[in-house]
Amino acid sequence: MSTHTHDPATVTVLGLGPMGRALAGAFLAAGLATTVWNRTPGRDADLLARGAHAAATAREAVAASALTVVCVVNYDASDAILREDDVTAALKGRTVVNLSADTPARARDTAAWAERHGIRYLDGAIMTPAPSIGTPDAVFLHSGPREVYDEHRPVLAALGGTHTHLGENPSRAAVYDIALLDVFWTAMAGYAHALAVARAEGVSGRELAPFAQGIAAILPPLFEEFAGDADDGTYSGAINPITSAASTMTHVVHASEAHGIDATLMRAIEGQARRVIALGHGDDGFIRVTDLLSRR
Ligand code: NDP
Repeated sequence: MSTHTHDPATVTVLGLGPMGRALAGAFLAAGLATTVWNRTPGRDADLLARGAHAAATAREAVAASALTVVCVVNYDASDAILREDDVTAALKGRTVVNLSADTPARARDTAAWAERHGIRYLDGAIMTPAPSIGTPDAVFLHSGPREVYDEHRPVLAALGGTHTHLGENPSRAAVYDIALLDVFWTAMAGYAHALAVARAEGVSGRELAPFAQGIAAILPPLFEEFAGDADDGTYSGAINPITSAASTMTHVVHASEAHGIDATLMRAIEGQARRVIALGHGDDGFIRVTDLLSRR
């Protein structure tokens, strides 16, 4: 059975956490007939008031639409829903877009499962918070068969923002997701730590914040420059050699530990920089650490 036999203006959302509710809300706002289901009942009151159809079971939910978007905590959760025999059978010939987050390996495994069961499958990632959904700020990444993406692109467009198809390899979206989460959470961990160190020295978060934003603003051009360095193996430290960078890291460790603040994270980063120096690359820039980690 081809999805062409289903009404393209229908969509099902499985998973009604903050993100699933935002996705379903955007589909409703775009006028799509939207069916919703969640493991724990009662999370759909607002959506039902806005015209969503409540399915009693996941099987009923997926049978209602050509396209099912699943957005739950991880792939253990999406497996628990999609791999129930009756749900899998009902999905045959239909499309699943899995916008739950997990690893590239889980994305590959789920794509293989879908292929075995005649389910058309796109793996996706959402790179912006729930309130961005339905607005121009939302960012979605997709990977999997191009023709499946092209077919469902008009419905996915109801979610707003930018949608990028990263290629046919189903794990590409998850690879980007993991790498970008890596950037985000290490930055957040650095900021949480910085707020604690500043507080210990009598500087409030609000006092520090404008200057922290200044640090964030210098990052975009550095990301681009360092990406080129990492790809090409050109680690010029002419402006800031890693010996100098490591010294500033040591200051952060000392200032933190003087206040009894855990400096494990900065100790780890400093340790990586010192290993690069010990390998004879002290004149290189900090991003030489990428080679240390990937042992290219
Ligand atoms: P959560 O990550 O907390 O996911 C909650 C959803 O997962 C609920 O629907 C919950 O059902 C379901 N769930 C958990 N375990 C199971 C299970 N074993 N079986 C079935 N369903 C299960 O909340 P979000 O909605 O915020 O996130 C959903 C996905 O979106 C995640 O992968 C997250 O990383 C991603 N994301 C979220 C963003 C955000 O701003 N919130 C931003 C970008 C990505 P129940 O209600 O029954 O517990």
